[in-house]
Amino acid sequence: MEAKTKKLLDDALNQIEKAKTKQELFLINTKFLGKNGSLSELMKELKNVPAEEKPKMGAVLNECRQKIDGLIREKTKKMEEDELNQKLMSEDCDVTIPVKLDNLGTLHPITQTEQLLMEFFVKRGFTVRAGTDVETDYYCFEALNVPKNHPARDMQDTFYITDDILLRTHTSATQIHTLEKYAPPIKMFSLGQTYRVDEIDATHSPIFHQFEILVVDENVSMADLKGTLEDFVKFLFGEKTKVRLRPSYFPFTEPSVEADASCPKCGGKGCPLCKDTGWIELLGCGMVNPVILENHNINTNKYSGYALGAGIERLTMIRYGVSDLRELYENNVNLLKQLK
Ligand SMILES: [Zn+2]
Repeated sequence: MEAKTKKLLDDALNQIEKAKTKQELFLINTKFLGKNGSLSELMKELKNVPAEEKPKMGAVLNECRQKIDGLIREKTKKMEEDELNQKLMSEDCDVTIPVKLDNLGTLHPITQTEQLLMEFFVKRGFTVRAGTDVETDYYCFEALNVPKNHPARDMQDTFYITDDILLRTHTSATQIHTLEKYAPPIKMFSLGQTYRVDEIDATHSPIFHQFEILVVDENVSMADLKGTLEDFVKFLFGEKTKVRLRPSYFPFTEPSVEADASCPKCGGKGCPLCKDTGWIELLGCGMVNPVILENHNINTNKYSGYALGAGIERLTMIRYGVSDLRELYENNVNLLKQLK
């Protein structure tokens, strides 16, 4: 029986060595070690072996099984590794091939306008101050001279978290935080998201962006405001752009004005962008209401200020001649590519 076992083992080792595929190894495994395999058949003969030799023969058979099994596993594993290496080699990537640049992303047009605005005002000595999207009623309205039940609140209905905590309707709340913390001279720039209960249409969205500047210093007048405005409008829309002021009303500025820019698309002749008027409504601004300065212990005999705030979507739409606000939010790659 020992001789039979040896022959079986030699036979198996020989076949394993010759095997070239995992399938062949699987068949060898079944042939020798399977339930009805040659080794199993040999095991059955163990019952005919004299009792004193049984343990020794058992051990020999067991060793034979382990050896065959071990070699088959080892060779299978080696074949799997070779297969993987072969696959990796064939999928090798060449890092020296030039990258296709057609699909590189760009900054969103609104972000581009924000960066332009920031660049313009920071160069003129303004300090950037961050505000928060969540505000209290006091900072968003009351401290800006818009008490509860003031009609101006109707135009700025917002999302309330509690009766007193809300999502800011404008970036002007940052003016109050600045006046609380800093004494004049003040030159502040701020921008961010703002919120109002508006249905989405071509010119409205419940979430939009604003920027805001506040200047408080000695001898600040409407002429300074107009000068800053003209510079800024020319920077954004081109040297030929003109500014027109119209009297208006905001509780936080006195006097208040609405500023229009001559249409950058048609140069004032009239086109669909300016609805054939030659002018485009741009923003609201004015001299800071002295009540607000006095509330922050600023001597209004010595100091005065101006403030200016605008919707960034609106400025972006004028810059690029986009007529529907929704186009800026629809992730239309073809449109966004044109607005680089
Ligand atoms: Zn026009």
